[in-house]
Amino acid sequence: MAVQLVWLKRDLRLHDHAPFAAAARQGPVVALYVFEPSMVRAPDHDVQHFRFISDALTELRQRLVKRGGALLIRTGELPAVMEQVVQEVGAECVWAHEETGNALSYARDRRVRAWARARGLPFRELPGSGVIRRLDSRDGWAERWEAFVRAPVANPPQQFAALPWFQAPDGKAAPEAGVVPTPASLGVQNASTRPVQSAAGERAARETLHSFLTARGEDYRRAMSSPVSAFSACSRVSAHLAFGTMSGRQAWQAAQRRRAELLDDRPGHAAWLASLQSFTARLAWRDHFMQKLEDEPRIEYEEFSRAYQGLRSEEPDGARLDAWIEGRTGYPFVDACMRALRAHGWINFRMRAMLVSFASYHLWLPWQATSKALAPHFLDYEPGIHYSQFQMQSGTTGINTVRIYNPYKQGLEHDPDGAFIRHWVPELESVPVDFVHAPHEMPALMAGMTGLRLGLDYPWPIVDHASAYREARDRVHAVRRSLAARAEAASVYAMHGSRKEPLHKRTR
Ligand SMILES: Cc1cc2nc3c(=O)[nH]c(=O)nc-3n(C[C@H](O)[C@H](O)[C@H](O)COP(=O)(O)OP(=O)(O)OC[C@H]3O[C@@H](n4cnc5c(N)ncnc54)[C@H](O)[C@@H]3O)c2cc1C
Repeated sequence: MAVQLVWLKRDLRLHDHAPFAAAARQGPVVALYVFEPSMVRAPDHDVQHFRFISDALTELRQRLVKRGGALLIRTGELPAVMEQVVQEVGAECVWAHEETGNALSYARDRRVRAWARARGLPFRELPGSGVIRRLDSRDGWAERWEAFVRAPVANPPQQFAALPWFQAPDGKAAPEAGVVPTPASLGVQNASTRPVQSAAGERAARETLHSFLTARGEDYRRAMSSPVSAFSACSRVSAHLAFGTMSGRQAWQAAQRRRAELLDDRPGHAAWLASLQSFTARLAWRDHFMQKLEDEPRIEYEEFSRAYQGLRSEEPDGARLDAWIEGRTGYPFVDACMRALRAHGWINFRMRAMLVSFASYHLWLPWQATSKALAPHFLDYEPGIHYSQFQMQSGTTGINTVRIYNPYKQGLEHDPDGAFIRHWVPELESVPVDFVHAPHEMPALMAGMTGLRLGLDYPWPIVDHASAYREARDRVHAVRRSLAARAEAASVYAMHGSRKEPLHKRTR
């Protein structure tokens, strides 16, 4: 039987993996993961991503070897590495999931396709999510998505066909075939020492989801918005979905099974049922957003609505960008959220939205620069969600409500006693609760008593809230009112709009 090569990318799992399942029906299976230096060194990636990938591969290799499969791990550019491996293992077919990635992975996939075609090697790409390749219309997308997540999971057999060449002399499957590289061996400069905050691998993914669905998630709907409660109340499965140690379908089906259990005692479980509803809706949003990048890869760099091109200068103000990304804007709640994100590789949705709104409106920074600066800090960096969300929170889609967050109001709502601020901005430890959200408003005498030296220990606000807010709102609305923006909105909506809400109420 001909050897089948399964090329792994952001799908580091064995279960619900269509390429593994299909390849195993054709012959012995060898999996390949390639650490590509061009990708490793790209500005939107960070060492934390490659540590997570390495840990997931270590677990996956054990699972594969147990079933008689093998995992090769190589470093190099594609398709050159794949050519070597195909020759080495005598593969007669390559299998992979379709990937909706960034411009680099998009170009890489095109090169691999062209190489396979030129070589006459079958290269089969299968969908791994509800994102639809070559979608002709958004009409009916939600129904097609639901059919995908409801379909049975695609699991490979317990035992793959034997791989005779891959036997060690004592007859046992050889455990090592390529070493998981370290950041240093990949040539990553200034490798951060930040530990990966989430355990990787299929087992960790299952356990994280299980604890959410059975214990942590009951209060999800209410608690997801505050960074004080969200770290435990949210599912925290995003990095697993981003690197594919769990599929969206597995998450959706697990939530549906839990829902069915709870429905037996509906009145006692109203909060749980509401949480599950919100969670599964978000799994659909995930693919809804990724579909946008799949359909228009240019949105990684260009505004959805061309009417907004040139709204902000391409060159960011370096001092503002640095202050924002380092969490020293003089807005305590903004700085606390940024510092928490940098320490954990995660922060909740509302705070991501506020951080980006602050950068795009108050600081008037171009989203193209801030999205690249923030991506390495999200362990769950997923290009399709990331760039769509950045544009939504920057007012450049042309079809969504313009939402400029007031950072003071957000702080008072989600951290009323300032405990989160004090934890992440210890410079403000001694500031009384009434002023911890706006220390610059402290009367001079009180400031003197706290010992806080504004401008030295902690910055003055980088911009004045009221005037920055007004100016940003006026600039965005001036474009929004233009004829060009209205014409663009209609075509953006036709291509990307969720069909569930009318155009004038668009939030997604
Ligand atoms: C500016 C900005 C950038 C973002 N970048 C990313 C990113 O790179 N990767 C990423 O996974 N999410 C991103 N998000 C969406 C969201 O913040 C995260 O998915 C969520 O915080 C992850 O935590 P969780 O797994 O506990 O989510 P939960 O609230 O438990 O949701 C479950 C899953 O649903 C999906 N999801 C949740 N909210 C959204 C949303 N608004 N849009 C699309 N999918 C959603 C995610 O896959 C998430 O894991 C971004 C949001 C904003 C505002």
